[in-house]
Formats: sequence, C-alpha cells, structure tokens
Amino acid sequence: MFCKNCGSEVSENAAVCMKCGFSVNDGENYCRNCGQKITPGAAVCVNCGTAVKNIVSSEQKSRVAAGLLGIFLGAWGVHNFYLGYQNKAVIQLVVGVVGLFLTCGIATTGIAIWGLVEGIMILTGSINVDGKGVPLKD
Ligand SMILES: [Zn+2]
Ligand SMILES: [Zn+2]
Repeated sequence: MFCKNCGSEVSENAAVCMKCGFSVNDGENYCRNCGQKITPGAAVCVNCGTAVKNIVSSEQKSRVAAGLLGIFLGAWGVHNFYLGYQNKAVIQLVVGVVGLFLTCGIATTGIAIWGLVEGIMILTGSINVDGKGVPLKD
C-alpha cells in the first residue's frame, strides 16, 4: 500500500507514513493501491480503479442510532435528517407537524408508522446506506 499524501510505499499495517508523517487515511494525492498520482477531484484511480476517498469510520452513521431515531422520532423524520436523506426528512417533518393541526394527528400517525417501518428496516439491514451512499456502521 502507498501513502496517499506523498506516494511512497508504506507497510500494510502502518498507521502513519514514515516519510511524510501523514496518517495513512489522510491525503488524496496518490492512489493507496498502486501509488499513481491522482488527478485532483477524481473519485477513482485511473490506473487501477481503486476509490480515492477512504470511507473513514467517523463518517459512518450508526445503524442502531438511526434505527432507534426512526422508531421513536420517525414522525418528525429525525432518522432521515440523521442519515442525510434530506428530501424525505423534510417531507416527514412537514407532514408530521402540519398533520398534528390539520388532521388531528392522523397524518402524523401515518408518518410515525412510516418512520417506525424505516427504523426497523434500518435495524434489519434493509436500509444499509446513508444519504451519501456510505454504509451504516453496525
Ligand atoms: Zn507520506
Ligand atoms: Zn491506483
């Protein structure tokens, strides 16, 4: 494997590059797999096809947190805000809140059930990625 910052070879289990001191997860200049220089802004290495950006665990959303948010606060779309499904979240929040007043809560109950179902789908793995396509963390 290669340092993504300076392109020098680093051992497979190294946490930092010996040459430049960067964490092996940092940097987007060189391909981690083949060491080729990456075109700025490219998503994959043109040489070997490896994804440039690493999915770091801190960017992964928690499956349990998202599922519980859906089950308990699904009527306000909180789980979808958390996961970054903005459009769906806004619809659920608006219908959930407005439904309280206009439909005496009937629409809100519908959204709550929707959120509950999505919460269960998240927990069971039917919904497996967040709004950016990053896999959820178990
Ligand atoms: Zn380096
Ligand atoms: Zn490559």
